[in-house]
Amino acid sequence: MIKSEKVFLLCYVAHRVILLSVRRGDAGRRAAALHDSARSRQPGRREAESTGTAADEVSVDFDQTREAYKSKGSLELLRSLVVFKLCSYDFLIMDLGKTLLGQRAFNQFMKMTFYGQFVAGEDHKAIRPLIQKNQAFGVGSVLDYSVEEDITQEEAEQKEMDSCASAAEKERIGKEKKYKVHKQFGDRRGGVTGARTYFYADEAKCDQHMETFIKCIKASGGSSMDGFSAIKMTALGRPQFLLQFSEVLVKWRRFFTFLASQQGKDGMTALEQKLELNQLQEFLNKLGAKGDFYGWFSGRKEESSGTIDMIDWNSLIDDRTKISDLLVVPNVELGELEPLLAKFTVEEEKQMKRMLQRMDILAKHAIDNGVRLMVDAEQTYFQPAISRLTLEMQRIYNKEKPVIFNTYQCYLKEAFDNVSMDVELSRREGWHFAAKLVRGAYMYQERERAEEIGYEDPINPDYESTNKMYHRCLDYVLDEIALRRNANVMVASHNEDTVKHTLSRMYELGLFPRENKVYFGQLLGMCDQISFPLGQAGFPVYKYVPYGPVNEVMPYLSRRAQENRGFMKGAQKERELLWKELKRRLVSGELLYRPVY
Ligand SMILES: Cc1cc2nc3c(=O)[nH]c(=O)nc-3n(C[C@H](O)[C@H](O)[C@H](O)COP(=O)(O)OP(=O)(O)OC[C@H]3O[C@@H](n4cnc5c(N)ncnc54)[C@H](O)[C@@H]3O)c2cc1C
Repeated sequence: MIKSEKVFLLCYVAHRVILLSVRRGDAGRRAAALHDSARSRQPGRREAESTGTAADEVSVDFDQTREAYKSKGSLELLRSLVVFKLCSYDFLIMDLGKTLLGQRAFNQFMKMTFYGQFVAGEDHKAIRPLIQKNQAFGVGSVLDYSVEEDITQEEAEQKEMDSCASAAEKERIGKEKKYKVHKQFGDRRGGVTGARTYFYADEAKCDQHMETFIKCIKASGGSSMDGFSAIKMTALGRPQFLLQFSEVLVKWRRFFTFLASQQGKDGMTALEQKLELNQLQEFLNKLGAKGDFYGWFSGRKEESSGTIDMIDWNSLIDDRTKISDLLVVPNVELGELEPLLAKFTVEEEKQMKRMLQRMDILAKHAIDNGVRLMVDAEQTYFQPAISRLTLEMQRIYNKEKPVIFNTYQCYLKEAFDNVSMDVELSRREGWHFAAKLVRGAYMYQERERAEEIGYEDPINPDYESTNKMYHRCLDYVLDEIALRRNANVMVASHNEDTVKHTLSRMYELGLFPRENKVYFGQLLGMCDQISFPLGQAGFPVYKYVPYGPVNEVMPYLSRRAQENRGFMKGAQKERELLWKELKRRLVSGELLYRPVY
């Protein structure tokens, strides 16, 4: 970059910083104090409200099998038992099954077992009876069209290499290893059992995915009054853009942290770190910025707090149509700005814009059909961009009510900073924060990639710290709901302790199930002993409902069946409960029980 451009950019940065600082003052500090006061509130139920009864007053018994399996015939219970048992075996059993039965018979077997257990049906018509049945028993649906291309590992790697490298790749300076495509990790399906994976083919394929998501949104709208649809951003465009934008966002954020540490503000949460403008200005001066930008704000300085925080900093990147121009990042080591990429080609620029347009189209369809859109979280080298683009949609579409839900993965070390900053932003700008909280589905893959390629493992060191992180993020959002009734959260987890923790915290804060601010989410075919008692007790609870043609869902299902050992360890309790219910029905003469609704 030539010197005059650099000076211009630095001046622009400084100018924006000052304006933001003047506008926002110390809103963040006030918000933090309010959160502390919510947390220190004495447990106790608020006065009864017309919205319903507080969470804990309705006792939810997760061991009561009669209620839990009220929506299931005995054959369905038996199928669940067989499937969970098969999942508990080593994957070799599945391979053996394929060899012994042959491909056709194996597919038929999968259809009778895994497909029936985890997939609702072939298309939106076929899934309707199941959706209606679940609804009759108090459980809603998040429709999740689940096709996955049946391609080999080599094909997947090649597609990833082709789609993640920019035409201007060779000119790219300062590119970090994490945000580069690596052939050995090109097949993003490895070790992932709870999510579908998309590989980029071309723009027409992305349009096809968008049309599929639109059908899914319409089906959600048609089948219930308050449905959800799930989408994956990697289905909607070339992942190269997500990689590059993620790198910019992360470097930008890191530059803030670097500046904060220069000012002696290490070891604080992201929201607590505030940059002194005077010192920032000095630093920018050192980087080579000249001109009278000091004079731009000195006259208004007394109106401002004299500081800016990470949110002010992040909002400097806010023009979606000029993202390509923003591919200029600070180099912490060299202490100067440098271009991340010379420029997108005209075609790449178009691809990027088309991806954003597809997201806009989906959001509009969601609004027209009264459906809420859940944007799934994916790998950490895409996720900063996915989350940021989702947030941009929330700014537009969540003004009146929560339509777009972002997803936060609590296995990430940075999860609390991500959640608290976005809550704070929604508060400052006055839109509805809406989040799905998950622990995270890509742990093994993320760890292996970080180790092999050589960057810091983004995942918490152990399961216990992920649990703590989950509850910390959850508590923060629940406090926010209690304070303003403006945020919304889906507790997307099969973990009984987490669900119980949520119920007891809802009670302490006086949050009412019927307020529809706190939702619960589980995958279809999993943890019915949690979903159905919650639903029958009046809590908004949803199943992620995968659907799609047998042949197209089968690759994902086979992978799930083969790699499910860790995933299914928690199913031990479920198997015990299923046995208990089957025995109860046998003894009480209810073996032929059929759910009535
Ligand atoms: C409705 C729904 C929607 C979902 N959507 C998404 C999504 O969009 N994106 C996504 O990534 N995932 C998603 N998931 C999957 C989710 O992230 C978890 O993988 C899965 O639910 C298991 O976590 P749990 O809380 O249910 O159960 P638990 O068994 O309590 O937790 C298991 C999880 O803990 C974490 N963990 C386990 N061992 C360790 C360890 N040694 N160190 C650190 N952490 C560890 C991992 O995240 C693991 O998946 C979704 C799950 C549900 C139910």
